[in-house]
Amino acid sequence: MTNAEDAARRRRRTGPPPRLTLDTPVTYLKGVGPARADALQRLGIKVAGDLLRHVPHRYEDASTVTPIARAAVGADVTVLGQVVATGILPTRKGLRVFQAVIKDASGLLELAWPGQPFLERTITKGDWLLCTGEVRFHHGRRLQPREFVNLGAGDESSLEGRVLAVYPATEGLSVRWLRTLVDAHLDALLPLVKEPLPAALLEEAGVLPLPEALRRVHRPASVADARLGRARLAWEELLCVHLLHRRANTIAREARTGTQFENRKLLTRQLREELPFALTSAQMRAVREIVADLCSPTRMHRLLQGDVGSGKTVVALFAAMLVMENSAQVALMAPTELLAEQHARTADTLLAPLGIASVLLTGRLGAKDRRAALSRLQSVEPVLAIGTHALFQNDVAFAKLGLVIIDEQHRFGVEQRAALGAKGADRTPPDVLLMTATPIPRSLALTLYGDLDVSTLDERPPGRQPVTTAHRRESARARVFTFVETELQAGRQAYVVYPVIEASEKTDLRDATSMYDALVSGPFASRRVALLHGRLPVDERDVIMRAFRDGAIDVLVATTVIEVGIDVPNATVMVIEHPERFGLSQLHQLRGRVGRGAEQSYCILLGDVGSDAAERLKVVVDTEDGFEISRADLRMRGMGDLFGARQSGLPMFRIADPIADEALNVSARVMGERMLESDPNLTRQENAGVRQLLTVSYARALELFRVG
Ligand code: ADP
Ligand code: MG
Repeated sequence: MTNAEDAARRRRRTGPPPRLTLDTPVTYLKGVGPARADALQRLGIKVAGDLLRHVPHRYEDASTVTPIARAAVGADVTVLGQVVATGILPTRKGLRVFQAVIKDASGLLELAWPGQPFLERTITKGDWLLCTGEVRFHHGRRLQPREFVNLGAGDESSLEGRVLAVYPATEGLSVRWLRTLVDAHLDALLPLVKEPLPAALLEEAGVLPLPEALRRVHRPASVADARLGRARLAWEELLCVHLLHRRANTIAREARTGTQFENRKLLTRQLREELPFALTSAQMRAVREIVADLCSPTRMHRLLQGDVGSGKTVVALFAAMLVMENSAQVALMAPTELLAEQHARTADTLLAPLGIASVLLTGRLGAKDRRAALSRLQSVEPVLAIGTHALFQNDVAFAKLGLVIIDEQHRFGVEQRAALGAKGADRTPPDVLLMTATPIPRSLALTLYGDLDVSTLDERPPGRQPVTTAHRRESARARVFTFVETELQAGRQAYVVYPVIEASEKTDLRDATSMYDALVSGPFASRRVALLHGRLPVDERDVIMRAFRDGAIDVLVATTVIEVGIDVPNATVMVIEHPERFGLSQLHQLRGRVGRGAEQSYCILLGDVGSDAAERLKVVVDTEDGFEISRADLRMRGMGDLFGARQSGLPMFRIADPIADEALNVSARVMGERMLESDPNLTRQENAGVRQLLTVSYARALELFRVG
């Protein structure tokens, strides 16, 4: 900042204070200097109105506090007590420590604030303090409050219903300072807040009007009261996200002009007649949704999600047949060669009665076969090409690519998907169907995958045996491996899965490499055992997986690299060590590699774990419903872990949690869809408020909801 600017700023700040509005920059607020203004900005608070939207992330009241007698050393607690003594102690290093002793019905506790002697002026005998922090041992139990609030003097009954709001803070701003700042301006700011949404909508959603919600969030009469306020804000946030996504979806669709296929019911009817089984109703619904997309003038951009074994491939084949009976070509892309071959085998079996054979294109093809495959793609005949990303190398050209199907879509980058778009010789981009075996609840899928349409297979084909799943303690280790051996003796195969490849100094986890050695010289000494992990070259991994598939290996000791969707029906047991190291969805996907044949299969989670982890694992033991498992996983670990790694591009929520707030999320989605149905660009008078809300909070909104 130049001197002139600085001087101007100071002049502004010392001049007569402007009337407070929601748009008043925070620098005009009393007590907010440049340093604190910067810190506030880090929290997204630039103007006074932003303070209202800075919502406490936690509340404490008398009902949530720990009785002082039970505040154990090492525990992080919130306690409430009345000050019975105060004093300042110098330490040897010259630091002055303010100390207070508080008392509740159960006992006494010492509090200490190093370096804050000035607290002597504000905390006096008789005050009630609500404090949060870790209890340490220092000549007895002592708590150094991380945050606290002075509720003032009075008898205990005056505290009933007093609630402490805890605000997200940042470096340079204490929770207490933030609370004081919000509190000081709340009464002036609240009357300025106007409800942006139509009253009828709020009533239907069962949420509070905005000013009322904000008041309850910042100055609740009880924790329950605060929750009601928060629910409104969370719902509003979810509504905004759904409005943006729906709108983006509509615009993208309008821009996606593609081929309008015709439902000729030639190949599709034949496929239905020749299938050795009847489609589940979930499959029929998905097929209908896909057919509608293919036969519309806009390009399909749809995600088909369903558990391992829910029958996605068959659904994809219906899409392929419809496109092929329109004389166009189809490409099905799998993440590995093995999976591509597996898809080709499935397709060839099911399509044989129709006289259709797929064209397999992987990196393993010899030059001659490759040339033959390429020439078939270049001819004008309808073709089902199946392969890896080799399908989309530069020398591969399709005469008339109508549909691209991508299995395990999250393994492919956005760029690869975009590259497919440009493959058709006539430049009309193909329709796209993505498939994933990490199913998530539909309302969440719509929240996350913005501009994709979503079809869900939430039903299992009949006849699949459930996988018997159990959690066994370390003490049962020998018995577990004896059990595996009995399965091997019956001619079956087994997986043993570890969370890490090699031993490391940082953890004392069992690792795949050491355990491979231990298992081949111990329980599986007479067996053919192989080690598979991600540090092996891809070719080597491929050789091992093939050998396992072909029955040349009995036991596969592996990390999580075992492919999702790999089909080895003879593998009937999976042992997973250190199950607490995996996410629930990940365990469920691993388990999906067994239970693929007619025989009863088993998944054994092996190891001693804490009670929290045991509780988590129970979800996987108790159910095989992937949706239920992902919901539990999300609830416990948050969205970032859903795919084992943090995915980019997920919308960030300030207040809402689409899983914990699932009911609000569903309501927000339904109402958002309805609003856009009747007013696609939100130009009507009654939607002026929501338009304003969107454009203020989301940069994308300006582009999506253009005026005029
Ligand atoms: P996904 O790709 O979703 O994991 P697949 O499409 O590989 O599942 O299907 C798993 C198995 O179930 C395959 O052998 C398939 O032929 C069979 N299958 C699919 N749909 C049905 C159905 N409706 N009834 C019986 N078996 C089915
Ligand atoms: Mg599959």
